[in-house]
Amino acid sequence: MKKSIFIPIFLVFIFSCSPDEETSAPTNTIQTKTPEPETVAVQYTLTVSAGLGGSITGGGTFNEGKEVTVTAIPNEGYRFTGWEGNSSTNQSLTITINSNQTYKALFELITYTLTVTAGEGGTVSSEGGTYEGGTEVSVTANPTSGYQFLKWSNESQESTISLTVSQNLELEAIFIYEALSLTGRDKYKFYYNFGENLPQQWVNEFRLIMGNLNSTVHITTRDRVSLKDGKSGMNIFAWNSIEGLPFQSEIGNAGGTCICGNEFVRYKLLEMPNDEFIYEYIHRYSVIAYEYFHVYQINASIVEPPYLKYLMEGGAATFESLYLQQYYSFNYFTNDQKNTTDLATNSPAFFETFNDQGIEINYANSVFIFLTLVKELQKRGDTEIQAFKRVYIDWWKSGRNNVSKETLFLEVFGFSISDFYESIGSYSADINTVLPSESLRLQDIFTD
Ligand SMILES: [Zn+2]
Repeated sequence: MKKSIFIPIFLVFIFSCSPDEETSAPTNTIQTKTPEPETVAVQYTLTVSAGLGGSITGGGTFNEGKEVTVTAIPNEGYRFTGWEGNSSTNQSLTITINSNQTYKALFELITYTLTVTAGEGGTVSSEGGTYEGGTEVSVTANPTSGYQFLKWSNESQESTISLTVSQNLELEAIFIYEALSLTGRDKYKFYYNFGENLPQQWVNEFRLIMGNLNSTVHITTRDRVSLKDGKSGMNIFAWNSIEGLPFQSEIGNAGGTCICGNEFVRYKLLEMPNDEFIYEYIHRYSVIAYEYFHVYQINASIVEPPYLKYLMEGGAATFESLYLQQYYSFNYFTNDQKNTTDLATNSPAFFETFNDQGIEINYANSVFIFLTLVKELQKRGDTEIQAFKRVYIDWWKSGRNNVSKETLFLEVFGFSISDFYESIGSYSADINTVLPSESLRLQDIFTD
């Protein structure tokens, strides 16, 4: 098309030229004469191809000037990375046909990075790497001597975990110090974790108390459902409240003094208020016995007996007083558990459940009801030791599925729970009327 327009203009130019150039004019004139001007569509080839991991649409032979779009399509598990022959990173490329052109769509396998690290106290079987999506990877956390594996940073608790790689992931194995652990007669194991600001004297006393308890009250080892469910062992985290959250990587923001957690992870927390050290409250020691006894209670049966607060909390609080009485000659009953209310004698059923925050001071009402039960057992013929064996051993070992508190109460104590509540009505709500013997020794109760 350009040629047919150009030629007439060229001729006009020649004819208007000066005559001096006439000698060359014939040559030019001859050239323009040869082909008849005609309209021919010029075509070019667009060659497109796909590298490994994808396909392409578009390509072929096109008339000059046409705009053609080609698209790169990655296969599953691959991603488009760009074009060979063009700097565009767009998956669709629009090309103006003005020459023969060649392009190649490039693809790469999609991979993810797994980074596995070990915290202080252990190693990991693999540091991870780069994996294709869907790859199964198995890693194992191995504690070094003196440490035990606690959990992975994704909260998994088995030391060997398998995961399917589907994203970038960082995983850390968390270990805790176990050098100060204690193994019971039935292989039940406590792991000690101490914060740095506990008085050394308290730590020493803690170990002594745990040793005393461990040799007296045997905690039954149960088959565990999860690694840290408290059935075969338990971590104790003890720290001074002024330290804040020294075990945050292990227990998050949990605090207070409790057996805390759920059916998968249970631990014993002793967040010790600093005032207890400053003012030397005896509770700084008795709380160790109190929480220890809870571990005994929840493991004595495969299935815990129905919850009765005065047996659970009242039982543990009585236990701590018996411990202080025996080992420190301190009467915690009359000093700290004396704030009984008339509710304990008028409405003992109120203390079956944990609905009474604010009414109970150091579980005084629950302790009172608990000690009243011991007295009622003695009235019906038990010795004091026998009565304590019923409330401390028989009850906690009697747990089973689908049994009501009424059935179990009657079975273990020999009289009905309603009879018991009626009997309490004849007591005055005064701890001094139900105190156990000062000579009572835990070893006498917990022998078998
Ligand atoms: Zn408790």
